[in-house]
Amino acid sequence: MLTDKVAIVTGASRGIGRCTALALAAQGADLVVSARNLEPLQTLVAEIEAMGRKALAVTADAASTGDAEKLIAAAVETFGQVDILVNNAGITRDGLLLRMKDEDWDAVLDTNLKGAFVLIRATAKLMSKQRSGRIINISSVVGEMGNPGQANYCASKAGLIGLTKSVARELAKRNVTVNAITPGFIETDMTSNLPEKARQELTAQIPLGRLGESEDIAQAVVFLASENAGYITGQVLGVNGGMYM
Ligand code: NAP
Repeated sequence: MLTDKVAIVTGASRGIGRCTALALAAQGADLVVSARNLEPLQTLVAEIEAMGRKALAVTADAASTGDAEKLIAAAVETFGQVDILVNNAGITRDGLLLRMKDEDWDAVLDTNLKGAFVLIRATAKLMSKQRSGRIINISSVVGEMGNPGQANYCASKAGLIGLTKSVARELAKRNVTVNAITPGFIETDMTSNLPEKARQELTAQIPLGRLGESEDIAQAVVFLASENAGYITGQVLGVNGGMYM
C-alpha cells in the first residue's frame, strides 16, 4: 500500500499518466496531477477524491523549468512532501531524419528529456532531505531499439535511460531509487493514428500478440513505487509484450 505517500504524475490528463494516477490513488497515495490543460485534470481530481484520496491539479508545461519549480512548490505547499515522482509527460514529432526540423527536435527533447531532468532536480532536494523517494521515468521500447521516423523521440527516450542510471547512482546513498519503464506500443491517443496495416505488422512482432494497455504500465509504476521495490534502482523495466528482450 502507498498510504500517506504523495505522488506527482506528469502528463496525467489522459492515457498512461491518467491511468497511473488512478492506480497510485487506488493504493492509497495522494496525488499531484499535472499537464498543460486544466479541465481534464480537474475531472481526474474529482475521480481521485471520490476514491477517498486527496488530489491537486497543477498546469505545467514539461518543457518549462519555471513551471517545474512551480509544480514542486505547489505540491510542497499542499502536502508538505513528495514521495513519488512519475515523469510521464511526452510528445512525438515524427519525421524522417533528412526532413526533421530543428523545432521538432527541440520540442521533443525539451519536453521528454529536459522536462524530466528539471523535475528530478527540483524533487531530488526534497527526497534527499526526506532520505526516501521513488523516481520513475517513462521511457520507451524505441529508446532501446530505435525506430525509423522517430530519431528525436528515440534520442529523448534513450537519454532518459542514461539520466535514470546516473541519477540512481547519485541518489542511492539518500535511499532514493530511480528507475525507468520502457513501454512497448500502448493503446492511447499517441498510437491511435497508426494505420490498420501498420498495427497488424506491429502486433505480429509482439510475442504476447497484442498492443499494451495503460493499466499494464500503471501497475509496473505501482510496483516500482512500492516498499517491495526498495532494492531496485537504476533499472529499465521493459513492459512491451516481449517485443524487445
Ligand atoms: P498521450 O495519450 O499522448 O498523453 C500525453 C500526456 O502528456 C497528456 O496528459 C498531455 O497532456 C501531456 N503532455 C504533453 N505534452 C506536455 C507538455 N509539454 N507538458 C506537460 N504535459 C504534456 O500519451 P501516452 O501514450 O499516454 O504516453 C505517456 C508517456 O508514455 C509518454 O512519455 C510516451 O512517450 C510514453 N510512451 C508511450 C507509448 C505508447 O505506445 N502510447 C509507448 C512508449 C512510451 P496535455 O496535452 O494537456 O499537456
